[in-house]
Amino acid sequence: MSNDSRVPSADGLVPFSFEIYPPRRAEGLPALHETIRHLAASGPRFISVTFGAGGSTGGRSLEVLTHILRETDVPPLAHLTCVGSTYPAATALIREFLDAGITSFLALRGDPPAGVSEDDVYLGDLESAAQLVQLIQRVQAEREPYTESSLPGVPGAARVDRRQKAEVAVAAFPNGHPRSRHPREHIDALLAKQAAGATFAITQLFFHADDYLAFVAQARSAGVVIPILPGIMPITSPGRLQRVLELSGESLPGELAVALEVEPTPEGRREIGIAYAAALTRDVVAGGAPGIHLYAFNNHDTVLATLREAGITTALDKETAR
Ligand code: FAD
Repeated sequence: MSNDSRVPSADGLVPFSFEIYPPRRAEGLPALHETIRHLAASGPRFISVTFGAGGSTGGRSLEVLTHILRETDVPPLAHLTCVGSTYPAATALIREFLDAGITSFLALRGDPPAGVSEDDVYLGDLESAAQLVQLIQRVQAEREPYTESSLPGVPGAARVDRRQKAEVAVAAFPNGHPRSRHPREHIDALLAKQAAGATFAITQLFFHADDYLAFVAQARSAGVVIPILPGIMPITSPGRLQRVLELSGESLPGELAVALEVEPTPEGRREIGIAYAAALTRDVVAGGAPGIHLYAFNNHDTVLATLREAGITTALDKETAR
């Protein structure tokens, strides 16, 4: 994935990607594999897999990532968190993922376990996502300090080339991080992640296009040059909305909340959620977003319907047009 791959192409196609999470129990894997099959068939730039969120384990995360690697032609992107980890443990984990063939990461600080205060737990050797970005780049450099290619016409000779840098994404927060101590802390954090070697950013979900567009403008004027992918989640029930607001710290989107609350049928609520996410997608793309990252919540139907309604062409559309 080069930076260019995330810029809308000359033919007007908008790059898109998905986030999924590992199931809590192994019995959930077959259903997730089916979802992955559908998501991969739509032609995303990558599929990311969360780590340690919602009680999932790193082991199952790697299992899902290697499934994507072996069974699809879509690059998997591994979320990694550093909270509670020692340096040697974080280094061993990165090596394990690289050994499994995973070369794209989303480096995160992570949150302490639910219900545990930051003062009560060991937060680990790495204090921020920026330090994890650096560690991933360092581990990758130690494993593969350079690459070699053969010299045409000179049998046995090799040219030493610069190594391929690991693709390391980071999180960005259009409305600030819920625990930021001052209004620009999230921009400073993003600048630090860029300086540490991050190659692009993915945002926390948001509900108004201006939240994203104003944040990108602010980040650019502060010196952030890496692509910032907007993270969008189609939300199709009041319960899901409530849960997402609790996890993200975002404020209640009044219009969507009321529409979901008053709609009596699940089908109607699904349509409302998809229409809202599709409108948001159209607006951020029109405002210059370099692509769209959809939080799939392990369900392919809703995110694929969102892309269709937003007018974004997928490989599946091309297939049915034939
Ligand atoms: P940092 O870059 O270190 O911090 C970012 C900002 O938050 C800065 O402003 C920083 O100062 C502020 N901040 C962070 N922690 C504190 C604190 N304790 N006190 C004060 N300010 C603080 N979590 C998971 O566990 N697993 C996942 O797979 C996962 N995936 C995610 C994917 C995306 C796209 C996003 C946006 C978030 C994801 N998260 C995940 C949540 C993330 O780990 C938390 O939001 C975490 O609190 C901050 O992580 P960071 O990498 O941005 O941290």
